Amino acid sequence: ASRQSARRIADVIALFERVCAREEEELGRIDSVAGDGDHGQGMLLGSSGAADAARKAVSQDAGARTVLARSGEAWAESAGGTSGALWGAALVAAGNAVSDQEGVDQEALVGALDAAVETIGRLGGAKEGDKTMMDSALPFRRTLAASFTGQNAGEAIASAAAAAREAADATASITANKGRARVLGDKSLGTVDPGALSFAILMTELGEHLA
Ligand code: ADP
Ligand code: MG
Ligand code: MG
Repeated sequence: ASRQSARRIADVIALFERVCAREEEELGRIDSVAGDGDHGQGMLLGSSGAADAARKAVSQDAGARTVLARSGEAWAESAGGTSGALWGAALVAAGNAVSDQEGVDQEALVGALDAAVETIGRLGGAKEGDKTMMDSALPFRRTLAASFTGQNAGEAIASAAAAAREAADATASITANKGRARVLGDKSLGTVDPGALSFAILMTELGEHLA
């Protein structure tokens, strides 16, 4: 069952790569307003490295935990940059929440996502309102916990992703306190945080994929 879960995880990471390719230009444009313009490129490099690592691990018969660990390491290495380190650590943390022996059931899936967001928060040290990825990841985590009943992971993830997207859009009206955008102060006013947006976009795609 873990082998089947491992394949499904590799499919999701391949989906992330396609979505990052689709969004590359727009994420780069947004990051160029108050950042250094490389967020689209970083997300594509990271997800692409992760997708390759996931496929390779699956071909070597790895379980769910190992596929996520290898993907996370590859994401951080391939992307470089702040968001790459955070996404990489998030995938590794998701892997630590599942096993190589058992399949990933709905509860394990929700637990893995919860662990991923917890790790981004702990590593980045950002609070809600700092205008970072956490501004969409924390509403995602809260909504996921509140709407998951034990059997409806896909639906709960879709609801959580909608909350994340709304929160990401709302970052346009605040100024950054963390990351590169911080030094540019008010320059980011009127533009959403790129990392908050890309998180919401990927979780939206995950929700649709599971539906
Ligand atoms: P870099 O800033 O190194 O160029 P990216 O452009 O790929 O990396 O990512 C920028 C995004 O990283 C920001 O939009 C923000 O969402 C996220 N980010 C930056 N610092 C933090 C942090 N401390 N905690 C959470 N997210 C952060
Ligand atoms: Mg950048
Ligand atoms: Mg950069």
